[in-house]
Amino acid sequence: MLLIEQTLDSLLKKHTMRIFLISLLLVCTIFLQAQQIISGGPLKPEQANMDIRHYTLSLEVDPAGKSIKGYTEISLILIKEANTILLDLVQQMKVEKIILDGKQVEFLHENGFINISGSNQFSAGKHLLKVIYAGEPPIAKRAPWEGGFQWEKDSTGNPWIAITCQSEGGKIYFPCKDHPSDEPNEGADLFITVPKGLVVAGPGLLQKVTTKKNQSTYHWKTNYTISNYAILFNVGKYKVIRREYITVNNNRVPMEFYVLEEHADKGMHLLEIMERSARVQEKYFGEYPWVKEKIAIAETPHLGMEHQTMNAYGNKFRYTLVGGMDFDWLLHHEFGHEWWGNKVTNRDWAHMWIQEGICVFGDALYIRDAEGEEAYLERMRRTARATQNRMPIVQGEQIDAKQTYQPDIYGKGAFFMHTLRYIMGDSLFFPTLKKLATAPQYTYDNTVTTDDVEKLFSGAYGQSMKPVFDLFLRTTEKLDVQIRQTDTEKYFIRLANSGMTLPVDIATDRGMERVMVGEKGLEVNSKTIPVVDPKGYYLKKITMD
Ligand SMILES: [Zn+2]
Repeated sequence: MLLIEQTLDSLLKKHTMRIFLISLLLVCTIFLQAQQIISGGPLKPEQANMDIRHYTLSLEVDPAGKSIKGYTEISLILIKEANTILLDLVQQMKVEKIILDGKQVEFLHENGFINISGSNQFSAGKHLLKVIYAGEPPIAKRAPWEGGFQWEKDSTGNPWIAITCQSEGGKIYFPCKDHPSDEPNEGADLFITVPKGLVVAGPGLLQKVTTKKNQSTYHWKTNYTISNYAILFNVGKYKVIRREYITVNNNRVPMEFYVLEEHADKGMHLLEIMERSARVQEKYFGEYPWVKEKIAIAETPHLGMEHQTMNAYGNKFRYTLVGGMDFDWLLHHEFGHEWWGNKVTNRDWAHMWIQEGICVFGDALYIRDAEGEEAYLERMRRTARATQNRMPIVQGEQIDAKQTYQPDIYGKGAFFMHTLRYIMGDSLFFPTLKKLATAPQYTYDNTVTTDDVEKLFSGAYGQSMKPVFDLFLRTTEKLDVQIRQTDTEKYFIRLANSGMTLPVDIATDRGMERVMVGEKGLEVNSKTIPVVDPKGYYLKKITMD
């Protein structure tokens, strides 16, 4: 997801207007908090005992009634035998019937949970559960940040439907285990039925379109693991623009844009822009993650979201020139989530900076490639200035999606990668970052935490970097740089809270030097007052005695 403040900044020029609107949003957010549907939080023991293998969604969409009806089939494994199967589904959905392993079962649907408790225990091992339901799913209040369904119309009056649910979870419209730690290992099938003439854009590959009378059913199938907030579809009067992408490893992947018919003439140029984005992402993070399926975007009425193999795009073809070429920041950012979020997934929302921070760092790397190191450094300095430090990026463990969501998981998270890059040097940092995005233990079926990232980078550095991970991610402190003049042309410089010795650039009358400094400090001779870290690799505060 993208950061709301960034968007406001780009849309609103007048300062007072901006403050007014941000205040308004805060008021609205607080007001909505009471009735919000929230993803994640502590994993319930009944759900910790359950491994989701596959989802099949078969739903008929009624744009006029703003409703859906059909079923979801869930293939799951119970790790131990259990007397309860617990699923998430909002109360707006009315469950008609549940069939477990071919037999209808009793259930209770209350407070957003489906509780199936048998008179006999459910055996350990595989089970197939079919939930038949219907209803009017929650309407998005402020998509994509406050998610739900959007029942919009395009400019010619055709239905234009989008779903967003990163913070709310897939439970807004299908029964699921709503926790980032568990993705369906065998993927998902979506059979979505819409009025004839409309097109459904979904994850994976389109298997078949069946038209009967006045309805069409689109069957989309992904064989990859997928986050439950990415198991969804968009509907519109779409035209499909196609080209082919050849990955860094020479795999051929279809590249598609489900664009509203009225914007079809703009489609191919956006795919060209996307191809440039893909080249840079692959250079730093390895091959595009879903080569057996597709690279695709769907035009949506909201700004955008990282929907696996079908990124939501709503930036209205507004480009900026980067390196003299058209660039779409929204497209690049959401596309970056194919690596950071979709392929590398945080095990708990507590570690969401991994998805957002590294993705934003990838946005800066595009600037580095297109305009050079100085432009990249300027971008990172701007990022540092925007850091809020109101609360730590990692606030603990088992944190829900709303609590973890704050601007610093983006900018400060990205800046932290910039700091690591400086500490380790490019020859160590970039291969390590690529390893995080490519090694099996961090990708696809395997989810990651801040500790996993710390251990990987510490291992590559050859020394524990836990002190800097803790300082920048688990506190709101900045690096405390203290400079004291001890004699004529002599200065004592120390890092009061670094917890380890760190490389620092120091500019003196003799020029710039990279030296190792820690809490013990060191003495520097200079005719001028030394300038510490002039290029801005650290979030720091400097005190002079
Ligand atoms: Zn994002």
